[in-house]
Amino acid sequence: MEQANSTLYVVWLYVSQEKQITIGKKGTFSFPKGHYLYIGSAKRGLSQRLQRHYRLNKKKRWHIDYFRENASWRHSWVFQEASGECALQKYTADLLKGEYPVPSLGSSDCRCPAHLIKVPEMSKTKGDLLSRFWHENTFT
Ligand SMILES: [Zn+2]
Repeated sequence: MEQANSTLYVVWLYVSQEKQITIGKKGTFSFPKGHYLYIGSAKRGLSQRLQRHYRLNKKKRWHIDYFRENASWRHSWVFQEASGECALQKYTADLLKGEYPVPSLGSSDCRCPAHLIKVPEMSKTKGDLLSRFWHENTFT
């Protein structure tokens, strides 16, 4: 049952040393070493979407794809939909003190600063807590 409503996700990526990355036509940006989270949604085929983000060899379709090939995959979490991926993005950024390295990356269709955030620290435990807080505060 829960799987059917689980349409949001957070992907944790890690950049091992500072890099200049060209994000398609957006231009080239400097990405400091550290932890990055990408917040997205997939109404259908959530596991295929996550598998696509995981894969490195693919035709680039989204701006996040340019970043992905320069970062290492750490983990992903699935979240139930309540008020959408933008609310989850804001929730994540607020809770984990996120910053936005590339204006409007992943948010060309919404008003968020971006859907890729850089966080000062990250761990599996932090992600699990984020998931727990989100579900407790949103579905009670
Ligand atoms: Zn948004």
